[in-house]
Amino acid sequence: MSTRAVIRQGTWTLQPDREPDAEPTAYAMECAVCGESSDVSEGFADGHSWVVKHCATNPSHHTFRERITRPWRTWQHV
Ligand SMILES: [Zn+2]
Repeated sequence: MSTRAVIRQGTWTLQPDREPDAEPTAYAMECAVCGESSDVSEGFADGHSWVVKHCATNPSHHTFRERITRPWRTWQHV
């Protein structure tokens, strides 16, 4: 987590949502050569497995992006 995980601006605070009802953090891997991507998963291992398979069938594709979806929440101080 970055050092700017808690952001205060005026009366608003913004923070990663770690409440029990928060949406899960989700991961996907995307090929930077052809744009194909793995399924979105709550762990990163599935995406890594997809990369290995993608390399095997596309031997010239060597660069990838990891797409991370992280839930955040805001609240206002009064
Ligand atoms: Zn590719």
